[in-house]
Amino acid sequence: MVKVNGNYLKLQAGYLFPEIAKRVAKFSQANPHSNLIRLGIGDVTEPLPKACSFAMKKAIDEMSTPEGFHGYGPEQGYSWLREKISEFDFKKRGCDISAEEIFVSDGSKCDSSNILDIIGDGNRIAVTDPVYPVYVDSNVMAGSTGLANAQGRYDGLIYIPITAENLFIAEIPKESVDLIYLCFPNNPTGAVATKRQLSEWVNYALANKSLILFDAAYEAFIQDETLPHSIYEIDGARDCAVEFRSFSKNAGFTGTRCAYSVIPKSLKGKTQDGRDVDLWSLWNRRQSTKFNGVNYVVQRGAEAVYSHEGCMQVKGLVNFYMENACIIRNNLKEVGYEVFGGENAPYVWIKVPDRMDSWGFFDFLLEKANVVGTPGSGFGSAGEGYFRLSAFNTRDNVEMAMERISSLK
Ligand SMILES: *Cc1c(COP(=O)(O)O)cnc(C)c1O
Repeated sequence: MVKVNGNYLKLQAGYLFPEIAKRVAKFSQANPHSNLIRLGIGDVTEPLPKACSFAMKKAIDEMSTPEGFHGYGPEQGYSWLREKISEFDFKKRGCDISAEEIFVSDGSKCDSSNILDIIGDGNRIAVTDPVYPVYVDSNVMAGSTGLANAQGRYDGLIYIPITAENLFIAEIPKESVDLIYLCFPNNPTGAVATKRQLSEWVNYALANKSLILFDAAYEAFIQDETLPHSIYEIDGARDCAVEFRSFSKNAGFTGTRCAYSVIPKSLKGKTQDGRDVDLWSLWNRRQSTKFNGVNYVVQRGAEAVYSHEGCMQVKGLVNFYMENACIIRNNLKEVGYEVFGGENAPYVWIKVPDRMDSWGFFDFLLEKANVVGTPGSGFGSAGEGYFRLSAFNTRDNVEMAMERISSLK
């Protein structure tokens, strides 16, 4: 009989979202007339920018003509899209990233987990706690961890707590690690790193010859102009960092699917026998073998993000969600909650009131305000005592949810 990948059996049952669904279903059954507002989702709610849907319609029409038909495209993405990304997302911000170093894909979730295909065994791997669960689970699947303990932490991973005490910025580890996942602006805490904080990480990585996997899926939500959008704004990052970017959150492509990874040609890793190998060649080989590119229509849609209209429309979407975040922050602060994030990210991270834990606060909001959020403990044991509210919703829902929460006090 076929042997399965036993690492999958180490995975803890997807606990967070099924448990939320279970509690919500139970509440709804008992209270069929309640009008629940869901502020737990990490998915966008506004429609696609018109510039993108217009470009995609045009591309579909092209595809149905003999002259405009496209079959397999380049596995790395069309050069017209990679050129625009290089120009607008990097060169305009002073980052030396060429079109060749950009690999277009169908999502950052897949990229941030597929990258492990080119990473070998025996690395010391660090993640933050709380964390985007994909980084941890894909390491479990790849066999780079042992079993989980009672707190849900896997043997073999190094967890760096991010809490109010360190302003939700991962502190540089005392030990040397080979691979480190960073996400700024952060999901779930909404924290964002300054140039100085990122420089410390880059210097650490250069000194320890570590690789940083930098997830910048939320960079478009940065409002403070002094903050870096890309890790390549930091000197030396070309020699120690991969960056993941996505059109999901800025341009509403969560259902359309387009993203990209940046693998600088200067990045190096080591073979088991100690020789240097460049990561770009390995990733290029991986993509050429296992991936056949993002469809032409969607890449034309992504290209439109860089047109004048597309750019203005994306700004409009980001502003809309950030106004939601501001409404959430202000209302919660007014009634005495301690709130973090929500200023350069679409997530507000709340300190739950004393005497409650994350799930206790979940039940409290569900029952008393009929509002659904996400318990911080679901993102890692250091998330205990916190709670995530998402700004991805309609204005009406956000305002109604805040009225209900405010009237509880
Ligand atoms: C939403 C999100 C992404 C984007 O994922 P896609 O697969 O591109 O939709 C990446 N990283 C984090 C932390 C996210 O929350």
